[in-house]
Amino acid sequence: MKLTCPLCGGQMSERKIDYEFRKKDKYIVVKNVPAFVCVECGEQYFEPEVVEKILNSDIEKEGRRVTCLEEVEVNYAAL
Ligand SMILES: [Zn+2]
Repeated sequence: MKLTCPLCGGQMSERKIDYEFRKKDKYIVVKNVPAFVCVECGEQYFEPEVVEKILNSDIEKEGRRVTCLEEVEVNYAAL
């Protein structure tokens, strides 16, 4: 699968990168997420089903009970 960067028209190469987002009181970092990264400008593209899998998973249960913003790291392969 070949993708072209929507910003600069450069070539997107397949990589495993971190997907970071904030959910409720947690700052979640998902490691080794398959994505496409522009070799020219670094623009990142995640496929919709990848993002959906992350957002629909029970990542919160992986983390400890917290009262304030906490960073939670999970591996995409473990979802
Ligand atoms: Zn680009």
